[in-house]
Amino acid sequence: MKFATKAIHAGVHPDESTGAIMTPIYQTSTYVQDGVGNHKGYEYSRTLNPTRHALEKNIAAIENARFGAAFGSGLAAIDCVVKMLHPGDEVISTNDLYGGTYRLFTTIFAKYGIKFQFVDMSDASNVANYVTEKTKLIWVETPTNPMMNIIDIEAVAKIAKQAGALLAVDNTFATPYLQTPIDLGADIVMHSATKYLGGHSDVVMGILVTDNEEISKEMYRIQNSTGAVTAPMDSFLVLRGIKTLHLRVQRHCENGAKIAHWLAKHPKVDKVYWPGFESHPNHAIAKKQMRDFGGMISFTLKGNKIEDAHALVKKVEIFALAESLGGVESLIGHPASMTHASIPKEEREKTGVVDSLIRLSVGVEDVEDLIADLEQALR
Ligand SMILES: *Cc1c(COP(=O)(O)O)cnc(C)c1O
Repeated sequence: MKFATKAIHAGVHPDESTGAIMTPIYQTSTYVQDGVGNHKGYEYSRTLNPTRHALEKNIAAIENARFGAAFGSGLAAIDCVVKMLHPGDEVISTNDLYGGTYRLFTTIFAKYGIKFQFVDMSDASNVANYVTEKTKLIWVETPTNPMMNIIDIEAVAKIAKQAGALLAVDNTFATPYLQTPIDLGADIVMHSATKYLGGHSDVVMGILVTDNEEISKEMYRIQNSTGAVTAPMDSFLVLRGIKTLHLRVQRHCENGAKIAHWLAKHPKVDKVYWPGFESHPNHAIAKKQMRDFGGMISFTLKGNKIEDAHALVKKVEIFALAESLGGVESLIGHPASMTHASIPKEEREKTGVVDSLIRLSVGVEDVEDLIADLEQALR
């Protein structure tokens, strides 16, 4: 089955008792058993809930894998992956990383004796320089936030296999519609379903997917043992969101491409970061591993003044000044004073997060209105 058919049908069945086409929200903690040990597959909702179960099967199918697990947030999903490791193990991670992931690694897990290295993976062969016999996990985020760097998943997967380490890919920015890391050799895919999968800015959720049965057992064991599960209502919302994922992402990409090209020609704009440009350093890899280039764009202003960036994000009327991304509505953000404010200026500037850098999550509105909004704000 192809993507859209799976997105709409995988894991869901009309309700047997009523025929309801939508998966019911099983707002229940427990399940009545006919006799001791004689139940219908559900015993307690931390362990398994029918609405969550439908979502877990659905997301696994669209990532071309068999096993999915849903968590209370993206960070709770990442937390589960790191809990597969032991003290003394080493992790090699993308350097241009989602800030919350960096905080989880460095302020929570480092003190349990897990060692993290943050490396530039834009040339994948660089990863091999950091592999030791203690390397147990390689963590990749692509495209990266907010610099839109692209990492060659297939090349890193080969290095991970050789090292005997797991490869996990944060697929939040790309979505499974644009990129399926398991097909490229990844062991685990992670999502902040808060973003494109939910797609309507009304839910916080995390997802893990794997096609490896052994990893799945560990994933479900940790999910049940630590209990950071998502709720039935939220599972329903994300299941509903995924039904239109392909349509939304198509429009995000279309709008994103038009805005990226328009920005590149604007006299007040300096650099535009978007993997669809042929001049993007890893454009060829993006073309190889992604179906299209997504709706996330970053750009800088000529003169690189923080006041100009602050004025711009205040001036826009359709774009909303907010953190997060991937919803139907367009958002604008200023990484240096929002998502990356906790990183010292010198450190953030090394990765390109300069004072005038602006990040757009291009929504699915009419693109002419979005461009007019940016035009009046830039003026
Ligand atoms: C938002 C985000 C996360 C964290 O997910 P939450 O749902 O906010 O916990 C992780 N990775 C990326 C790329 C994100 O954008």
